[in-house]
Amino acid sequence: MASDFLPYGRQSLDEADIAAVVDVLRSDFLTQGPAIPRFEKAVADWCGARHGIALSNGTATLHCAAQAMGLGKGDWLWTSPITFVASSNAGRYCGAQVDFVDVDPATVCLCPDRLEAKLQQAEKQGRLPKIVVPVHFAGQSCDMPRIHALSQKYGFRILEDAAHALGGSYEGERIGNCRWSDAVSHSFHPVKIVTSAEGGMITTNDEELAWRIGALRTHGITRESSRMQGESDGPWYYQQIELGYNYRMTDLQAALGASQMEKLDRFAQRRQELAELYDRTLAGLPLRPLARDPRGISGWHLYMIRLDLEAIAPLTRRQVFESLRAQNIGVNVHYIPVHLQPDYRQFGFQKGDFPEAERYYEECITLPMFPAMTDLDVMRVKEALCQALHAAA
Ligand SMILES: *Cc1c(COP(=O)(O)O)cnc(C)c1O
Repeated sequence: MASDFLPYGRQSLDEADIAAVVDVLRSDFLTQGPAIPRFEKAVADWCGARHGIALSNGTATLHCAAQAMGLGKGDWLWTSPITFVASSNAGRYCGAQVDFVDVDPATVCLCPDRLEAKLQQAEKQGRLPKIVVPVHFAGQSCDMPRIHALSQKYGFRILEDAAHALGGSYEGERIGNCRWSDAVSHSFHPVKIVTSAEGGMITTNDEELAWRIGALRTHGITRESSRMQGESDGPWYYQQIELGYNYRMTDLQAALGASQMEKLDRFAQRRQELAELYDRTLAGLPLRPLARDPRGISGWHLYMIRLDLEAIAPLTRRQVFESLRAQNIGVNVHYIPVHLQPDYRQFGFQKGDFPEAERYYEECITLPMFPAMTDLDVMRVKEALCQALHAAA
């Protein structure tokens, strides 16, 4: 049996990707050159959105999009407690307060029923959110038509966190096309679906939002005289019209990202094949995958299992995890509920606040999933799991 380390995620780069980056190194622009609009167009076109704005990473896209939607002190941003900390940190960067909506126990996406109940209560207390950030967990879309309908009723804006989901779709609409939201955030970290090393992008159909995020990524500066206060001093002139950041992507990154986009269909298809193979291969073990929403196709960033803790007792999740790691299977846990992080508990969150999220956290293990994985690798994960569970292979 192969014993080399099998990571939970890994980029797939080819010679065309390498050549694309080298071309930039030989060109006049290392940053703010032609690769940026090329990558922006590739992602926006693939998603079917009008605008793409590339930023230095996914977290920066969430921050700038939230700020561009007017989030500030005294406002609330709501998201899922089962996500990477970036989804909620974006609200805090803007000085807003953050709250969570518990997950659907089947899909582990933000639960629309719980969202509706929480909105009804918040309305009475005058604490409705300004922005809701649905996280397309593991690559599977949240129930966006319902969340969109709730946004119409309660007047919040929607910023989708699609860091896991590029390549997926919902009700026949590609994730990222903003059919049911104001903007969608993407990440191109190497473990994600396509990579630009570090990198992120906002897709949106809202021209004003696109313009403002574009200004925020480079210090809140504009060179367009129509956007300035008063007259321009001359051709050299620029104005800072709000406090922005240096969140620019380099052309090296954008060239890599644009080259990777040509492989997105292939990557997505292989991830889906691997997920189906896992489903078939692991059937019968004391565990279950996340439920599939038949209205969508997942982008399959991650493949998680939930252990049947009662069936495997006295074995624990920790023992299963450690056994898999000892067998060189690079399992992981996504995610520690954000509200239980020490830096969030200071706002009064505690254990028991979001029981479905906490239950999921107790049971979950993320298995390896990346396009270069072979069918044999899946068999190897299964054998290691059987060993860990003392089950017959
Ligand atoms: C990766 C990730 C992000 C942030 O992306 P970076 O590019 O690493 O900043 C945000 N949200 C989720 C759910 C993620 O998995």
